[in-house]
Amino acid sequence: MSAALYEVRGNIAIITLNSPPVNGLGLDIRTAINDAYDKATADDAVTGIILAASGKIFCGGADISEFSNPALAMAEPGLPAIIGKIEKSKKHVVAAINGMALGGGLELALSADYRISDAKAKIGLPEVNLGILPGGGGTQRLPRLVGAEMATKMIVSGAPIAAKVALGAGALDRISDGNLLDDAITFTQELIEANAPLRDCNDMSVNTSNLPADFFAEFRKSVARRTKGFYAPERCIQCVEASIELPLAEGLKREQALFSECLDTPQARAQQHLFFAERAATKVPGVDPKTPTRDVKKVAIIGSGTMGGGIAMNFMNVGISVIMLDLNGQALEHGLGVVRKNYEFTAKKGKITAEQVEQRMSLLTATTEYSDLGDVDLVIEAVFEKMEVKHAVFKALDDVCKPGCILASNTSTLNIDEIAAVTSRPQDVIGLHFFSPANVMRLLEIVRCEKTADDVLITSIKLAQTIRKQPVVVGVCYGFVGNRMLEPYGREGMRMILEGANPAQLDKALTDFGMAMGFASMGDMAGLDIGYSVRQSRQEFIGHDKSYGIIADKLYELGRYGQKTGRGIYIYEGRDKKDDPELLEIAKAAAAELGVEQRTISDEEVVERMMYMMINEGALILEEGIANRSSDCDVVYANGYGFPWWRGGPMQYADEIGLDKVLASINKYRTQLGEYGEMWFKPAPLLEQLVAEGKKFSQFKVKA
Ligand code: NAD
Repeated sequence: MSAALYEVRGNIAIITLNSPPVNGLGLDIRTAINDAYDKATADDAVTGIILAASGKIFCGGADISEFSNPALAMAEPGLPAIIGKIEKSKKHVVAAINGMALGGGLELALSADYRISDAKAKIGLPEVNLGILPGGGGTQRLPRLVGAEMATKMIVSGAPIAAKVALGAGALDRISDGNLLDDAITFTQELIEANAPLRDCNDMSVNTSNLPADFFAEFRKSVARRTKGFYAPERCIQCVEASIELPLAEGLKREQALFSECLDTPQARAQQHLFFAERAATKVPGVDPKTPTRDVKKVAIIGSGTMGGGIAMNFMNVGISVIMLDLNGQALEHGLGVVRKNYEFTAKKGKITAEQVEQRMSLLTATTEYSDLGDVDLVIEAVFEKMEVKHAVFKALDDVCKPGCILASNTSTLNIDEIAAVTSRPQDVIGLHFFSPANVMRLLEIVRCEKTADDVLITSIKLAQTIRKQPVVVGVCYGFVGNRMLEPYGREGMRMILEGANPAQLDKALTDFGMAMGFASMGDMAGLDIGYSVRQSRQEFIGHDKSYGIIADKLYELGRYGQKTGRGIYIYEGRDKKDDPELLEIAKAAAAELGVEQRTISDEEVVERMMYMMINEGALILEEGIANRSSDCDVVYANGYGFPWWRGGPMQYADEIGLDKVLASINKYRTQLGEYGEMWFKPAPLLEQLVAEGKKFSQFKVKA
């Protein structure tokens, strides 16, 4: 079957993109479109041409499988050449957009003289999300049709717009609310009969009559925070500026030059890495993705605290019934109230209607009795982080839940194999580790236990996608992937305060690196009491270091838990925070007590010690098979820990700067930091091995 079908109906040729599911513009479909177009041009009986598509999507843009094969991506006929040729057509060309027209797909549609779409269609240029810009003329043709303001917004955000909006803006000429192809044929006939002008973007200029003189300056300011660190957005803006200043042919050359500039940047590599990494994270080596799943129609949440309520909302948002259980009736009342308040707040912002609030709340029931959970398909436990409490809950669940019910724990740190062991059905037990706030954060660590059944794993992955989370499958260990890698990062942060760094300096060095939040601010937000209890439970592993968390311990003893008590590492007044001079005194006294010499610490040292120790832990995690691939660690960090997206996650960052550099730096601190360095700066064997082999983390394959 050809990748593009060709058919002539009367005087009209129909070229149908036919490479489902997304009609990605790989070499075969480009060749087929090109050949079909030549055929239509050569046929004198044909006076109009329609570009259509089979399936649900008009065209999703470039063929992503060609990303790793530049020779194929660059092979002729290239998309710009096809578009340039169609644009010069002497016959009327109409694009019939049946669904999404994205990236190169929209650029192809822009080569037509006119566009008609289905009412549900959307168009957009999402290339910026991959660290590049539309390189098939989109940055030059779109502004000529919709104006500079709208084009800039679309190209810099990458967000698609609905057909109705596109019609109003001039990117579409008609919307069909019946049979799209029939309507496209009628439209083409009308154009031919009326001798409507053939529209060539070469003859058009961008209408700037209503464009404020300072538009681009103001636009740059408005996106500065959101695009900080990214390379492509500024080049997208420059392209639109060029569309105003230059004739089409010159503008296209400028677009190509800026496109090439974007292509060879760490940001483009990082963004494309995450694009593929997110898709790879749903695959588990050795587990058939087609394994039949279990039905999940009703979910029980145990514990109506901080996490329970947020987790419940994810299911209610997609129409799944939830029953919430808490042994404490007051806590239960409070938990239900918080869920309602959250929905009402969202409604106030106009994101959902008052009816939707009621409809979602109607899916939620509450109980204090385990015996009410006999009909649920999945239970997610979110009670206190204590093994005895988890054991009690899972024993109760084992007694009342029906066979086949999935029993999940939201524990952050406890060994879920030990939790599973108290049940008679460890094959049904799994970890579903949500992040706070659970109704907002996209990440879901799915913890595969020793005995978890394959269908429980695959059901959990699919369910994560249903509730719009990004799943990453991880193994059982302390803290799984995310919190385990965070531990050495936090340890170094606190240690550097002891060594003389100011918390504000630490935070600034990290936010300058691109982290969404500094380490000290994050500790205060999470609560220093939580960190304290984690350290208490880990004395076996950290107790040999008398300096470990010593300042945080002292703050805990003073009742300074962070934001919740108004004072932690910083002092809080409402939403504002300021430095606490007492903290530096506490650090000074602790350093004197331990014989640690205080000194000035550079921002470079802050970033290296915290990031490289985190990366080193990632290497250990890979070696142990806790993560299935290094990119899984990146997905966890980009989605759950505010790691700069444009750096692609910690492991990709290490691959980008070179593992030899990371290793050399760890060894440097090992010597430089004396006894402390000897204690903690131990390179992971895998890191040493990959450096010796001249390889990257991305080349390491975990055994299935
Ligand atoms: P929380 O203290 O806010 O809520 C716990 C709730 O569980 C309370 O309402 C309590 O009444 C109830 N509960 C206690 N024992 C119970 C029992 N035997 N049966 C039924 N209900 C019981 O705690 P949280 O912050 O929501 O954390 C819950 C779990 O989620 C913990 O395992 C924690 O490690 C994990 N977690 C927390 C976060 C976070 O940021 N808070 C993030 C990820 C995971």
